[in-house]
Order: sequence, then structure tokens, then C-alpha cells
Amino acid sequence: MNVLVLGAGQLARMMALAVKPLNIEVRAYDVGSKQVLNPLAPQQVFGDLTAGIEYADAITAEFEHVAHDVLAACETSGKLKPSSQAIKTGGDRRLEKELLSQCQAANAQHVIVSDKQSFDRAMATLSLPIIFKSALEGYDGKGQWRLKSLEQAQQTWLELSQFLADNDKQGIIAEQMVPFQREVSLVGMRGKTGEIKVYPLTENHHTDGVLSVSLALENEQQLQDQATQVFTKLTNMIDYVGTLAIEFFQVGDKLLVNEIAPRVHNSGHWTQQGADTCQFANHIRAVCGLPLGNTELIRPTAMINILGQDALPTEILSVPGTAIHWYGKTKRAGRKMGHINVSGNCQAQLNERLLAVSKQLPQAEFSDINTYITAKCS
Ligand code: ADP
Ligand code: MG
Repeated sequence: MNVLVLGAGQLARMMALAVKPLNIEVRAYDVGSKQVLNPLAPQQVFGDLTAGIEYADAITAEFEHVAHDVLAACETSGKLKPSSQAIKTGGDRRLEKELLSQCQAANAQHVIVSDKQSFDRAMATLSLPIIFKSALEGYDGKGQWRLKSLEQAQQTWLELSQFLADNDKQGIIAEQMVPFQREVSLVGMRGKTGEIKVYPLTENHHTDGVLSVSLALENEQQLQDQATQVFTKLTNMIDYVGTLAIEFFQVGDKLLVNEIAPRVHNSGHWTQQGADTCQFANHIRAVCGLPLGNTELIRPTAMINILGQDALPTEILSVPGTAIHWYGKTKRAGRKMGHINVSGNCQAQLNERLLAVSKQLPQAEFSDINTYITAKCS
């Protein structure tokens, strides 16, 4: 079988690697150059989008900010999974909020801001602190403004109004800041026949707004059930096919949805070592109409993102249960360059190994990650 992935980054690359043993070939459409290429050897170019659509038995996406004309061309072929509407919803916070309210999923109170009047309404409806997020194109904490005190309100409105004036398609969501205990996410998939499988919830730590560590959670049945319920209701409602991730804020023993991603997700990379079938293989299985693989945690596993670095001490590989996945990208400050998965036979062993890996990570670049791991695992 042949699959075309819209987007030619690390997620397409890991999909290609994961399904090679199934004899499934993955090609990637690079939205920048508008060419279809080999995600494992990007210099190998196959042709344009039309040729890619022709080649594919199934088409999917590795990110939600795909141009609408590209989505339309793929949808017309009848091969695109998830649907273009689902991908667009994940890429527009206004549509996302609508979907969340349709399936009655608890989420932070919000107001859509498009002019001064709606900004004032947001200020009157929500209490401080408030977070403003661009409706389109936001990722890794980009396109956000935080308003903590009334004195900042005028300056914030100046920045927001400028932002809205610069792009007439953009909108802003004003959202109540949630005093959460921690952030968790659920990654799961729904197949063409409606079959649903979800991985265990993951606890997520962010560094400067970018995910930096994910820990697969065990023994959190109550939270797992809540998250699975939201996942099931939401994906059934829109007849979703493929992998979907839901980010949550945990407040007490309740989960509030933060956002959804209609694709494989960074907080699911640990499944490469911690599950029988990883999210990448399961996503391709789902969009190809194949049976989904086991999503249970087979051993305690965590993931550490490598941000802005293209080399690490090779001694890390001498820590048992450790795997490094490089993405082959050019180094840039803060850029996601790869990740490290660490597994243990039990939680105590995983903690020991995480501490051993952390000792090898250069302190200057990994100080926040090292502090988190030390606090979590000592
Ligand atoms: P992105 O698409 O950039 O991941 P998010 O909506 O997930 O955007 O926001 C990035 C981070 O900002 C979140 O992981 C969380 O730490 C923080 N954040 C976002 N919304 C809220 C909120 N309503 N309350 C508290 N923190 C928030
Ligand atoms: Mg997020």
C-alpha cells in the first residue's frame, strides 16, 4: 500500500519508518517546495501534488495548518483521512471551541475577540489572568499574549488589534487562565469501522512553551476514563479516522480540554518504546483500514525532547532501555531536533535511568529538563 502524508517533517519520517515492515510506502508532500519527496531521503523527489495523489491509496496529514486548496484536492480524490473538515477544525481554535461545546467537553471559558467591543466583552466576562491565542497558525506557544493585570490591558489591545489588522482571516480567542496542577494528554486512534484504541495518558512538561518531557502514566484509571470518554464522544461525533491527540489541564480530579490535534502528537513519541504498536504505525493502520494494534503500556516509558541541539554525548546510549531518534534537521535555536525515549521494567528502574540520562545532558541547554527530571525521579 502507498500513503501520501501532507507535510514532510519528522512526523512523516517516523510514519515511514514505522510501517516499512508492513510493506507500506510513505511519501511526503512538502508544503514549502510543493513537491512530493521521500521522507527518509528528502533529496529524492517524486513529483507534484497531483502525482502524489495519484500514487496514494490513502492520504493523511502530519500537521493541521495545510493550505485549504491542498486539502480540497486531496478530499476530492476520496482518499483523505481524517477529513479536511477535521484537519481544519484542529487548525482553527474557533472551530475547535465549537466542536468542544457540541460534545459538551469541559474546557476553559472563552470569548472570541475580533474588535474592541469583543475585547471589552472578554475583559468583562473573564477574570484575570487571561490568555489570548491566535485562532490560526498557533503552535509551541507561539501567537499568544498573557494579560495579568489591568494596567496591561491597553497595551495588550494595541498588540492584538495590530495583529488582527495584519491578517483579515485571523481571529483571537480570549481564554480564562486555568490554575492547573499539571498538563496531560491522550493520544488515540479511530479506525474506519469505528474501532477506538487509546494509549495511557501522558504527563507533559513544557520548557518556554514547548513540550520537553512526556511521561506515560500508570494507575490513573479515573483520569484515563474521563479522557477516553471525551475522545470517544468527539471522534464518533465527527466520524474521525486516524490518530487524534487531546491536551488537557488537570484541575483537582477533573480534566479540562486545552486543545486537540488531528494527527500524531509529540506527547505520543514514547509509544515507540513503551507500546507494542506505536502511534505512527497505528495512525497509518487506521487511515489504511487495517486493524489497530495494542495500545497498552508494556513498560514504564518517558520521552525527552532534544531542542536546538544536533549532537549529544553518545554515553546516553549506554543507559539500558534508552533510544535516541534524530530527525535529520538543520540545527536552529529551540527547534525540535530529536527525542530520547527511556524505558524501565518498573517505575523505580525508569526513574533511575532517567536520572542517569539526565546526568549526561549538557546542563546549559537542558537545565529546565534536568531540574524537572531530578524533582520527579529522585
Ligand atoms: P500550542 O498550540 O502552542 O500548544 P496551547 O493552547 O497548548 O497552544 O498553549 C501552550 C501552553 O500554554 C499550554 O501547554 C499551557 O501550558 C499554556 N496555556 C494555554 N492555555 C492556557 C490556559 N487557558 N490556562 C493556563 N495555561 C494555558
Ligand atoms: Mg498545546
